[in-house]
Amino acid sequence: MTISTVNPATGETLKTFEPLTEREIEVKLQRAIEAFAVNRARSFADRATRMRAAAEALDARKNDLGRMMTTEMGKPVKAAIAEVQKCALVCRYYADNAEKYLADESVQTDAAASFIRYQPIGPVLAVMPWNFPFWQVFRFAAPALMAGNVGLLKHASNVPQSALAIEEIFRDAGFDAGEFQTLLISASQVTPLLDDDRIRAATLTGSEPAGASVASAAAKQIKKSVLELGGSDPFVVMPSADLEDAVKTAVKARIVNNGQSCIAAKRFIVHESIFDQFQTKFAAAMEALKVGDPMDESTDVGPLAMPQIVNDLDEQVRKSIDAGARLVTGGKRLGGNYYAPTILTDIPESAPAYAEEMFGPVASLFRAKDADDAIRLANATPFGLGASVWTNDRAEAERFINGIESGQVFVNAMVASDPRIPFGGVKHSGFGRELGVYGIREFVNVKTVWIAKRFDGDRSVATE
Ligand code: NAP
Repeated sequence: MTISTVNPATGETLKTFEPLTEREIEVKLQRAIEAFAVNRARSFADRATRMRAAAEALDARKNDLGRMMTTEMGKPVKAAIAEVQKCALVCRYYADNAEKYLADESVQTDAAASFIRYQPIGPVLAVMPWNFPFWQVFRFAAPALMAGNVGLLKHASNVPQSALAIEEIFRDAGFDAGEFQTLLISASQVTPLLDDDRIRAATLTGSEPAGASVASAAAKQIKKSVLELGGSDPFVVMPSADLEDAVKTAVKARIVNNGQSCIAAKRFIVHESIFDQFQTKFAAAMEALKVGDPMDESTDVGPLAMPQIVNDLDEQVRKSIDAGARLVTGGKRLGGNYYAPTILTDIPESAPAYAEEMFGPVASLFRAKDADDAIRLANATPFGLGASVWTNDRAEAERFINGIESGQVFVNAMVASDPRIPFGGVKHSGFGRELGVYGIREFVNVKTVWIAKRFDGDRSVATE
């Protein structure tokens, strides 16, 4: 894949970049090692000052950065600008909380003192996807850098300008050159990098094949990895739910980011007693969406990011219909990278729409007999990222919270990431967590310290 910006709304190639040579990569690795020696010794307050400056820079440039993101991958510009603001939020969140989350933790044992100390581990390689070109990177970088690590970014090949702009943000905020570096490299250059001793861990957000490749390359060198992969999230609606609210949110949850979000709701599982009502309202709302130019602030659904994504999505829809699924609405290309908001129902198990991830504005609609049947359908996928459950019955909500295999369950709300709460999946959606306290503890050495006896003349061996 060439490293270039191709506007998905027009198909025009705007900029192309050459991948870094081995020699250029070597310079950056060396720089990362030098920067790590400096950053690990910095106080949290010092790191926080820079991280807050990065937040300021993001806020100040949000409109330009948002427009650039839209030009590279086609998300509606309002959402792109909001994404930049969310990155500023995560920078401030970890600037405020890193010290607390990584403070020594005393443990009662039979030692005079024993405690846990969290220490940074070194350069971490982040392999990132194009769908949230800023947010995915910042939610890795803010905790990693605040913990004292340094970051190297291999971004998706279709968002090179976003990748370079993020590096510039950190540089302008006062970070050393080696603290955060963008590597414009191809996917095939990732494994050799992971073979290098100087890279201490890897995090990948993307597809299952890419995750399996990066995790196994890391494991071969006994390095830790975090994987944030795909999802085919269920959105369950029970009879006691507020139907209007559920339908409105269902549409939003399906078309977020033009349908290309790991935590977009993809499979809508509706109790049979309200199924027909839900289907009618859902179809009407999907048909009312405005599909068009992502630079237009009134657009609901823009183009998909690349022609290949349109081809893959359309093939999944065709195969599902061939297998017996019924088309409720949409189901067609609209020219260029645009795809009509679509609903499929009566989906047999053999159809791709039953359990696969559909990366675009295509909803799979299922009928459930009762709560157990809804849980069975919700779990009938290899993935386990998020789940949204709509019910006004507390006991029923509990059953879903316990029964659904996923990294997060949102009740009467759309699944969303938030700096304060952990984010991640189970099953084929990956392992490890980002965000919250768990996110910052992924790339640290959890060091146990045991001090058997008090030191001579020392009344306190407390950890402070
Ligand atoms: P992708 O094709 O897997 O690409 C993701 C990144 O991995 C890109 O930087 C890509 O580089 C790189 N890559 C691909 N194959 C690789 C390999 N064999 N070795 C090393 N690196 C490799 O995924 P995508 O199409 O960009 O993103 C969509 C997927 O990401 C969806 O499945 C979505 O659900 C998932 N996602 C998950 C989360 C989450 O938090 N769980 C969030 C967002 C997206 P190139 O671009 O150069 O190929």
